[in-house]
Amino acid sequence: MSMRFDDFYQRSIHDRDGFWAEQAQLIEWRQPPQQVCDYSHPPFAKWFAGGVTNLCHNAVDRHLAARAEQKALIAISTETDTEKVYSYRELHAEVNRMAAVLKALGVEKGDRVQIYMPMIAEAAFAMLACARLGAIHSVVFGGFASGALASRIDDAQPKVIVSADAGSRGGRVVAYKPLLDEALKLSSHQPAAVLIVDRGLAPAPMRAGRDHDWASLRTLHLDAQVACEWVDATHPSYTLYTSGTTGRPKGVQRDTGGYTVALAASMKHIFDAEAGQTFFSTSDIGWVVGHSYIIYAPLIAGMATVLYEGLPVRPDAGTWWGIVEKYRVTHMFSAPTAIRVLKKHDAEHLHRHDLSSLKGLWLAGEPLDEPTAAWISDAIKKPIIDNYWQTETGWPILTLCNGVETQATRFGSPGKAVYGYNVKLIDDATGEELTGANQKGVLAIEGPLPPGCMQTVWRDDERFVNTYWKSIPGRLIYSTFDWGIRDEDGYYFILGRTDDVINVAGHRLGTREIEESIAAHAQIAEVAVVGMADSLKGQVALAFAVVRDAALAEDAAASRALEAEVMKLVDSRLGAVARPSRVVFVTALPKTRSGKLLRRALQAVAEGRDPGDLSTMEDPAALAQVQQRL
Ligand code: ATP
Ligand code: MG
Repeated sequence: MSMRFDDFYQRSIHDRDGFWAEQAQLIEWRQPPQQVCDYSHPPFAKWFAGGVTNLCHNAVDRHLAARAEQKALIAISTETDTEKVYSYRELHAEVNRMAAVLKALGVEKGDRVQIYMPMIAEAAFAMLACARLGAIHSVVFGGFASGALASRIDDAQPKVIVSADAGSRGGRVVAYKPLLDEALKLSSHQPAAVLIVDRGLAPAPMRAGRDHDWASLRTLHLDAQVACEWVDATHPSYTLYTSGTTGRPKGVQRDTGGYTVALAASMKHIFDAEAGQTFFSTSDIGWVVGHSYIIYAPLIAGMATVLYEGLPVRPDAGTWWGIVEKYRVTHMFSAPTAIRVLKKHDAEHLHRHDLSSLKGLWLAGEPLDEPTAAWISDAIKKPIIDNYWQTETGWPILTLCNGVETQATRFGSPGKAVYGYNVKLIDDATGEELTGANQKGVLAIEGPLPPGCMQTVWRDDERFVNTYWKSIPGRLIYSTFDWGIRDEDGYYFILGRTDDVINVAGHRLGTREIEESIAAHAQIAEVAVVGMADSLKGQVALAFAVVRDAALAEDAAASRALEAEVMKLVDSRLGAVARPSRVVFVTALPKTRSGKLLRRALQAVAEGRDPGDLSTMEDPAALAQVQQRL
């Protein structure tokens, strides 16, 4: 029994204000908060009301006194073969230059700045400069095409857009500027100015009067000192869209004070991290993990953070681990999808490097299946820590808080409810809380959401309330739209999204349960299960599986035999009700650009419906193949 963590957790719920008042001391305030949490208008929570602070000050300026010459930002690109280390002093100077340029282009407190950039240092400068000015940044993933960008421009209505001539992926240059120009033709909103970082990778035609070159403006502001704009704790720091796995993305709006406190606290209690250590998150600034754990949290904690442009397998599958060795990385953060990519290569690439500095590898974004967890654990011989959260929350909901107390991991479980989150499992039909062990329910969070979570949906309070807080009958409670179970020791297991629950002849089954049982077959590399409408049973499960031996998928007799084996495996593990009506063998599954399985698109295709926006999809050809093989 883990007493220390349990006490810590209980206090965060039952002495909420006392607990968070203490955490608030981890950051610097211009004026201390007057109230810890104003929850007078549920479900809207105002954290640290009356407090005045600045996110950039806490991430950068605060460290100048103690660690000006220590590493702050390590920008590495295996696409352009460049590597540059910025100390806190140098980062401070660059952020001031960027802030001065944005200010000269008219950016003021409360203005939106859209950032559509590859993973280069200037993207970090731009985010931090916005925070410095009290401007609200809205980062759009650099791999998105014009349509997705245009709709986000219309929603954010930025005064300035910061972009680059190009990004690069796997050695292939992707020109961003033409995509941006195309997006601006499609959008009705037009920014006053566009700032372009020219990397010299692709021609970037500039439109006079609107478009500006970063390098030339930077030289005009080399010695700029732009004071931090002190803002209310509740002032929005940024907006960011959810991944769109289940439908139209939601514009998450985040505050300043609560977010800064939540991140500072997470570095201490979840990651057990300290100033001077090095954090390497392999995500992208276009996602929430990039916001929280590439840019803000490591810097708030006074650590060095690695910003990496490139693939995990180029030049070879040792590239990330070489970075760990070279910069003595202590904390690494990635996603199961990336580990599955590595898993296709020889573990020898990982063994080549000295990983002794590493304290652990945290993985988030989708379920961490046992074979993937076991493979990476064996390959690096370090703790592998699953953590479950959402763009909406900004930091983990379920994990193990090793900074409070070291706790045993349990395969298949992201861990326990994190302090501050009053997590409950709810029977979605009756709205009743499920208090017993091993009962399946919707994972929900009793309000107020802790600091750092979304304040609202950008410019749409109604959508915030109706989408998240009204889905469970008879009560105002935040739904994660994930389906889970908790064991007798308080460890949670995510069974899939509530949309993905399949109802076969009255039995409710999580797609994840069926996927896990299929993934146990040695021939299966990856699998997705969706429910398909069936006139007799209501729904039947349909499985799409990637086989290890690609030739097998092409051989009709062999795939029929494998299908039968897979069905038998599900029968033996879960029972015949869960048996998929068909197993379709493919070479790739449709995913979002962040590597998440698009079950929604699979289901649509299976039921003969429109799969939706293909432009934000990683590999539309995967869906075409599915269509063909159905
Ligand atoms: P959208 O909300 O637009 O459909 P999305 O839910 O994929 O997209 P994100 O906020 O990026 O957008 O992802 C959060 C979701 O990812 C969670 O609700 C959960 O379904 C899944 N997830 C994240 N981490 C884990 C994890 N460790 N284990 C299982 N599932 C996870
Ligand atoms: Mg979601």
